Amino acid sequence: MAILLLADHDNSSLSDQTAKALTAAAKIGGDVHVLVAGKGAKAAADAAATLSGVSKVLLAQSEELANNLAEPLTDLIVALAKSYDTILAAATSTGKNVLPRVAALLDVAQISEIIEVVSADTFKRPIYAGNAIQTVQSSDAKKVITVRTASFPPASQGPAAAVEEISTADFSSAVSSFVADALSTSDRPELTSAKIIISGGRALGSAEKFNEIILPVADKLGAAVGASRAAVDAGYAPNDFQVGQTGKVVAPDLYIACGISGAIQHLAGMKDSKVIVAVNNDEEAPIFQVADYGIVCDLFEMLPELEKAL
Ligand code: FAD
Repeated sequence: MAILLLADHDNSSLSDQTAKALTAAAKIGGDVHVLVAGKGAKAAADAAATLSGVSKVLLAQSEELANNLAEPLTDLIVALAKSYDTILAAATSTGKNVLPRVAALLDVAQISEIIEVVSADTFKRPIYAGNAIQTVQSSDAKKVITVRTASFPPASQGPAAAVEEISTADFSSAVSSFVADALSTSDRPELTSAKIIISGGRALGSAEKFNEIILPVADKLGAAVGASRAAVDAGYAPNDFQVGQTGKVVAPDLYIACGISGAIQHLAGMKDSKVIVAVNNDEEAPIFQVADYGIVCDLFEMLPELEKAL
């Protein structure tokens, strides 16, 4: 058994999503090789090499691979695929962009967003916005899998594996080219890796109130900020704050939902959080069904008080 794990990185550093996807790879069993494709990505490759359970890191570097463009990355993975039984990536924007193309070119069905490895060919994954768990057994010769990283702890550090530079001469990106990155920058922790998240919903009523009520508590807690889709659609919070089925899937140690009703599409993105606190003035709100602690109150009174107490 040999597994190829596509690393998530920005050339200079390795995302912790890779360490989590590696835990899933290790459960499948076999030699795990991590592919770091980029440009000037030696530091990311070295970081991948020190993750426990990695037997080799393949470092592929070229101009075309510098920005995670799906087309050259897919060509590279498909060329490597003959040596592997399983090709795996975290279900991040890169993984979701690249692996379906790989699966299509290999003519196999992708197994998306697994949350559990039952055996080398059988996996569990959520369906119907997390309302049911499907067990999938694949008879494809090669498995192409994305991993819902919120369900796996990161692999620990281990002895450094070898980093092997591989040729990229044959991979050029004729159909796509990189134009620009528009990255939102923030001093707050990133949503998908934050230990604490405080999210606001439609109840906040405006962007001004969202910022005035949610952000000071987030600052006191060192928390990332999330939002429901209703809050995002109404313009109270930016798009990349959205938690849920069509937003980000998170599983922090503490998730504080403020003025969020708990629609299934929101729960799909946060119900695996270790401790859930719900702040809502409607005691019948569905969010209380998943909450460990529920506070029935007006958030406009409660959150400033909490901030003061913190
Ligand atoms: P509401 O449902 O309106 O809830 C507001 C809550 O605030 C209520 O429970 C109310 O009691 C409470 N409240 C009001 N005033 C106060 C106050 N002063 N103090 C305390 N509490 C108060 N939603 C997501 O969040 N993420 C997704 O990814 C997502 N994807 C979707 C995908 C699809 C295909 C569809 C159809 C929907 C999706 N939705 C998603 C939308 C989802 O169905 C809900 O509409 C949305 O989550 C509701 O947001 P909300 O809880 O902020 O608003």
